[in-house]
Amino acid sequence: MNVSLLEVLLMFGYRPCVICGAEANAVDLTAGVCPECKAELAKELASLQRQFDAAMLEGDRGAAAGAVDAIEVFQDRWGLRLTAAPTVAQMRKAAGDPLASL
Ligand SMILES: [Zn+2]
Repeated sequence: MNVSLLEVLLMFGYRPCVICGAEANAVDLTAGVCPECKAELAKELASLQRQFDAAMLEGDRGAAAGAVDAIEVFQDRWGLRLTAAPTVAQMRKAAGDPLASL
């Protein structure tokens, strides 16, 4: 029997990261993303969060609502959330988005 390295890795619960393709233990993957890429995603999410905060400070509700939309898409796509950040619903309400009351 000729087993490739990849097959051995898969046998032990290793999966390629959906972003960088690096083999990672399945228990370390979040939505198929390895810990290193997850850290990068968290940085991107934090930057979206800062865009929202800045827009709110400037009173630019349109920009704030846009940032919330981007954050929601991001969270749905990657299953990630900044634990210290308010929820999408809370941010929508703060931005005065009429969808928030639905
Ligand atoms: Zn990765």
